[in-house]
Amino acid sequence: MAWQPAENRYEKMKYNRCGRSGLRLPAISLGLWHNFGGDTPHERKVDMCRTAFDLGITHFDLANNYGPPPGSAEIAFGEILRTQFAGLRDELIISSKAGYDMWPGPYGEWGSRKYLIASCDQSLKRMGLDYVDIFYSHRFDPDTPLEETCGALDQIVRSGRALYVGISSYNSQRTREAAAILKDLGTPCIIHQPSYSMLNRWIEDDGLIDTLEELGIGSIVFSPLAQGMLSTKYLSGIPEDSRAAQNHFLKKDFIRPEIVENIRKLNAIAERRGQTLAQMAIAWVLRGGRITSALVGASRSGQIVDSVKALENDCFTAEELSEIDAYARE
Ligand code: NDP
Repeated sequence: MAWQPAENRYEKMKYNRCGRSGLRLPAISLGLWHNFGGDTPHERKVDMCRTAFDLGITHFDLANNYGPPPGSAEIAFGEILRTQFAGLRDELIISSKAGYDMWPGPYGEWGSRKYLIASCDQSLKRMGLDYVDIFYSHRFDPDTPLEETCGALDQIVRSGRALYVGISSYNSQRTREAAAILKDLGTPCIIHQPSYSMLNRWIEDDGLIDTLEELGIGSIVFSPLAQGMLSTKYLSGIPEDSRAAQNHFLKKDFIRPEIVENIRKLNAIAERRGQTLAQMAIAWVLRGGRITSALVGASRSGQIVDSVKALENDCFTAEELSEIDAYARE
């Protein structure tokens, strides 16, 4: 018999309004950057997507280049849409992006109209979709006029390829510029996707978090677990099945003894709060309701089950916050 999603899937998840748009996103979303390429068995990807959806995670985040090889995460997710999530399209928010290196030559990366539109078409084809819910400019392109990049995003919406548009990793100033151009074009920027975690606070230092609130743009923050560093997995070495063991995006030498000591102290705070460290790290980015969604990754479904429980305790005392500040240093 075909898989049936859990009937109680909307009972526990919180859904937060994305800026001043009509869209609500789950407080926790699942990203398919790692563990959805050719290096992961398909059954594990299926298991993670089903588990997420059963827990009320309606939003799955992709990009053209997720793999390896680039594009393979979208192909795998397209397969899951057809075989597992058939009939559920209207319950899903699916995003993709273009900005990083995707194909050879001068039209395969950055922010030109030529690249963004071709890449969006390729993503739709790989996933077997008519449209994505959100399409992002994955990074600011210093050499392409922002009017062109934003014009391409506007065209992507007007041509029916996406319902909403967003930007990723743009600083506060560029965000203001892009938001103003998109507003004039009549396709508002509804979401920004920056990195943010207890170990990475650039959005506070840059003022981006205040800018987004002022402009009414939602925020979905990536790598809230600092790629898994904010968990207990590295407390006694680097496990073979961990991301750091791959030594690719999370380098083995990020796991320095002084960081491990601080992680141990953070874990003691989490234990006092009755949470895992991963749960506390997710709760921390969501504290105070300023962030729309925490965009987590996972290598197995049990991690998703664990991470979603972060929502059971997302309030912090002032003492806990200052203790976290003392140890959360890279
Ligand atoms: P996280 O910081 O959530 O790291 C995910 C990793 O943490 C997992 O692979 C796993 O590591 C570990 N983990 C997850 N849950 C738990 C848990 N409950 N307990 C213990 N360990 C856990 O996020 P990612 O770095 O994966 O990024 C999330 C998403 O953000 C991406 O998939 C992508 O969609 C988006 N992103 C966007 C970028 C952009 O430029 N816009 C850039 C980067 C990411 P392990 O594999 O070792 O088990």
